[in-house]
This record gives sequence, structure tokens and C-alpha cells, in this order.
Amino acid sequence: MNQWIEKDNTYVAHTYGRIPLVLVNGKGARVQDDAGNSYIDLGSGIAVNSFGYGDEAWLEAVTKQAAALQHVSNYYYTKPYIRLAELLCEKSGMQKVFFSNSGAEANECAIKAARKYAADKKGSDCYRIITLSNSFHGRTITTLAATGQESFHQQFLPLTEGFLYCPANDIEALKKLTEENQVAGILFELVQGEGGVIPLEPDFVAAMRQIAAEKDILLIDDEVQTGNGRSGQMYAYMNYGFTPDIVSTAKGLAGGLPIGATLFGEKTQNVYEPGLHGSTFGGNPISCAAAVSVVERLDDGFLAEVRKKSEYIFSRLQGAKGVKAVTGIGLMIGIETDRPVEEVMEGCRNRGVLVLRAKNRVRLLPPLNISFEELKEAIDTILTVVTGEEA
Ligand SMILES: *Cc1c(COP(=O)(O)O)cnc(C)c1O
Repeated sequence: MNQWIEKDNTYVAHTYGRIPLVLVNGKGARVQDDAGNSYIDLGSGIAVNSFGYGDEAWLEAVTKQAAALQHVSNYYYTKPYIRLAELLCEKSGMQKVFFSNSGAEANECAIKAARKYAADKKGSDCYRIITLSNSFHGRTITTLAATGQESFHQQFLPLTEGFLYCPANDIEALKKLTEENQVAGILFELVQGEGGVIPLEPDFVAAMRQIAAEKDILLIDDEVQTGNGRSGQMYAYMNYGFTPDIVSTAKGLAGGLPIGATLFGEKTQNVYEPGLHGSTFGGNPISCAAAVSVVERLDDGFLAEVRKKSEYIFSRLQGAKGVKAVTGIGLMIGIETDRPVEEVMEGCRNRGVLVLRAKNRVRLLPPLNISFEELKEAIDTILTVVTGEEA
């Protein structure tokens, strides 16, 4: 066995079911392992490396900032923090931003804000948050509670209380929950990522908006995976034609460095006051400088290209032999295949293409700037593997 994998078994906590590759180097959409094999990576570190590996503009932003100032406490102002907040507000239509270090933390900040908003306006009994079945919101005790999947909860009870679960796309169930409980907010992914790359139905989203408006319930949009260009728009809510009250995001925002962001709209922008929330590393100057270099490039022309690549993938895969269904939005795509997902992943890997899974589907999250040539090469490989022709 590879000596590094042996050492990992000895010294590293066994939290991950890993793929047996030790990755050492990358450029663009391609990554190399320590045996010298090269792969087209359609996972981007789970939608993190928005511009692939070793992107020049990103590298310059990161190295310049690291040389200037790697960290200061949040008692002081720093320019990358402020510039990134400004850019995000301009591009999202939201009003204010809080920075943390991960998706789970961005959701924690959103949940705290929703509870405080409701307590201030409707009293402290109004603290419940509705989340959807099959959702994923993180691994902390509170974001696990928010995650609408029993299997994640077991063995970690008791979780944070106050979460109610609604079957995704069930309008009647949502109505009933909001009539029978004092609800502060509804937390949702517009496209359930870990749950299988499944978009919410537009009718359900419309009903959610109506119910929320009638009862002053906050719409909390978890864009940790869908955000920052991944959906073919800056944020996925733009595909659905509305603006949430709170948006959380992370993964692709800084193109490969840890960051979380919680964005507040008109209603929620002044919920937090000094001392109520914070994060030592949150808004780290290097992560923020990296994020500025990513977000600055997510303009209309670039997003149109993302949508074109998406259409290309759908057109190649939909109805193809060995493919049962293709779901998703932008460059976040789930493929249901005739062959078991493990076999497809391994088959692709053996032919130089790395893909992810979500539940029983193959999941693609390629770098947003992947070239059409690389995309074509990778899709050719996937099509060969899903038919079983390579076996
Ligand atoms: C990945 C993910 C999270 C958790 O993000 P971490 O950075 O791992 O904490 C939360 N919500 C969604 C929708 C995600 O895809």
C-alpha cells in the first residue's frame, strides 16, 4: 500500500471514506497524484476551486496579501474584508455581510440572526426554524439539527432544539407547520447538493415566499454549494426570481481558501449589534483577497459561459445510453446511471476523470472556468464508463 495512505490510517482520525489517491499538484482543471497520473477534476474540491488549481490571478492576490498582512483581529479594519463585503452586496442585492470560515459557521450565523430577529419582533417563543427533508446544512451540533436527514443525527443526540422538518416540495405540510408553530425562519437549499443535486420546485418556492411574507417568517437561503457563480447566476435565488432575507455561502467563494459569508437583506441587516457574534479567523485578509479575485470575475459574460457549459453537459448526457436522469443547475449536475455510482466513479478515475457522488448519483462540480475541450474529453469518458463499454 502507498506509504502515505498507511500513515494516514495510523495517524488521522477516520472521519472520511477516502478514495485511494494522494494528490500532489494541480493546474487548471487537471490534478496529479504521487504516482504521476493526471486527472481532469470535475469535483473542484467539492465546488471550492472555482477557477481550478493554481489560477494566476488568484495566486497573485493570495501571495501579495500573505506578504502584506496575513491576519489581524477583528478589532481593526482591513481593506480586503471591506472590499469583499462591498462586492458581494453589489452583486447580490443584499445589504450587509458577516464573514466566517466555513459553510456550517455561515449557517450558524444565519440561524442566530433569525432567532434574534423573531425574538425582537414577535417574542422569544418564536424561535423555530423549518428545514427540508433530505437537506444538508453542516456538521456542527446545530447545523446537524438543521440537516433534515435522520441518519446524520443518530449517535449525536441530543441536538439543538427548535428545528422542524418539512418534506421538500410539500406545500400543504409547510402551511400546516407554519400554522401550528411559532416559526422564525425557513432554511433551504434551492438545489439540494449533498441530497442528490435536486432543485426545489418553483411552485414550492413561490408558496414558501407567500407564507413567509404573510407571517413575517425569514427566508434563509443556504447557498454554501450553489453560490458564487455555481448555479449559472451569482446566487441560485436569481434563477428563481426573488431575494431571500438571509443568504449563507462558503465553498467556492474564495476559490480554495476557507471562508464563510452570511449576507443580510433589508429586514435583517441590523439584527446584529457589537458583541453578539464574531469569529477570530472570520474575514481573514488572505481568504478575503482570494475571494475578491474570484468574485470580481463573476460578471454577466462569465456567467453566460457557465450556463453554456451547463447546457453542453445536459445535451450530451440527457437521454444517453446508461443515463437514467440528469438533474441540477449551472455547473452543479447530478447523473443517475444504470451502473452503480461506485463503479462509475472508479471507472472514470481509471480513465483519468475524477467525479463526485451525492447519494446514488454521480455529481459533477467542475471548475467554472473549465475549457470546452477539457469538458468534452471528460464527458466522453463518463459516457464510455456509464455504458459499461470500458469494462
Ligand atoms: C458543504 C455544505 C455545508 C457545510 O459547509 P462546511 O464548509 O463543510 O461547513 C452547508 N450547506 C450546504 C448546502 C453545503 O453544501
